[in-house]
Amino acid sequence: MTEIFADERLLGFCIFCGGKPDTRDHVPPKVFLDKPYPDNLLIVGSCDRCNGGSSLDEQFVACLLEVVMCGTVEPGALRRPNIARTLTRSPALAAQLEQGLQPGGGFLVSELGGQRLARVLEKIGRGLWAYQTQEPTGTLAARVGWNAWSTLSDAQRQEFITVRDEVFPELGSRMFIRLLEEGPNRWTVVQEGRFAYLVEVQEGGGRIKLIIGDYLAGEVDLVGGTDG
Ligand SMILES: [Zn+2]
Repeated sequence: MTEIFADERLLGFCIFCGGKPDTRDHVPPKVFLDKPYPDNLLIVGSCDRCNGGSSLDEQFVACLLEVVMCGTVEPGALRRPNIARTLTRSPALAAQLEQGLQPGGGFLVSELGGQRLARVLEKIGRGLWAYQTQEPTGTLAARVGWNAWSTLSDAQRQEFITVRDEVFPELGSRMFIRLLEEGPNRWTVVQEGRFAYLVEVQEGGGRIKLIIGDYLAGEVDLVGGTDG
């Protein structure tokens, strides 16, 4: 059944504004994954104007998560070779991240860091939603939240991973076919330990849940504004 859509994996429009795409982005960005990369990584289009500089944000967030997980910015003590290389090349970034490390093991995300994290999560959410709906997402407002998995209670974890569609998707839509194929428990693990996501159908939009690096639980609500 998915064969129908096989040649549509590369979207022909900017996932934000619907305009002509200048670049094609992997969802999730490769910086969140380790080599060897999984086959069939999702690719979406975006224009230069909408995309503006997102890869720097993505690199920042990937480094942030690794530093938080490892409790250090020392390249030799990090688990992910890509991140170790990046921090070796960018002492300024390493110094910036080091400031967030708390004595005794926590990490404090700065306001700016939080904004960058929110932008990254939003873009991934929009990419996944555009892929499901085959439409640009620019008319939808985004609400982004995130937590460290370790800070969630069992009940919150249960709530987070439970699939809750509010409305049933249109017959024949990608979302509908996915429901048929994957059933109600349809988290997609892009790469074990690195990235998993779930797309839920909500009234007038969608909710995208992300687990990154077995550490960060992110949620992106895309909500219609004037749709009536
Ligand atoms: Zn655009």
